[in-house]
Amino acid sequence: KFHVDNSLPSGFKRITTGDYTGSGYDRGHLCNSKDRTKNKKNNDATFNMTNILPQAADNNQGPWVKLEDFGRQLAGQGNELYIISGGHGLQFFIANGHVAVPAQTWKVIIVLPVGSNDVSRVTTATRTIAVVMPNSGSIGSDWRAYRVSVDQVEAITGFDFFSNVSSGIQAVIEGRVD
Ligand code: MN
Ligand code: MN
Repeated sequence: KFHVDNSLPSGFKRITTGDYTGSGYDRGHLCNSKDRTKNKKNNDATFNMTNILPQAADNNQGPWVKLEDFGRQLAGQGNELYIISGGHGLQFFIANGHVAVPAQTWKVIIVLPVGSNDVSRVTTATRTIAVVMPNSGSIGSDWRAYRVSVDQVEAITGFDFFSNVSSGIQAVIEGRVD
């Protein structure tokens, strides 16, 4: 069940599941529910409203979920994945101005064989996957159509992904499109 994030600082608006009702947007998980099924506590955590953003149904139930499925497929093949996702840009607000509907959703993934000391195992051959998808209707179902480089996601978000990896390796694995 979706639940309010009571860990937010006082003064922060606590978004409820009802704030999305009638908005026309899905309650879209950033970290998706099926990626956290080890126990009930972990799965419940994905329904914290701070993990949710307003996602167009055609995005959430289209290429976005296809990429989530693909990530689990890679994990099932003996890999571990670091996944970072978010929204970018602004269409308008819902919930009386309290929730921004992003213009796009983005995701960055790095894929490693299961192991330890992860940072030291990243090489110029390490696979990264990045996408930017319109948060709107009629965008098809093929996540591969929305692939970009990690550098492109860094450029629009201002984040520096994989910053614990040497800049030389970052330049290679962030500069190419999967
Ligand atoms: Mn970069
Ligand atoms: Mn980086």
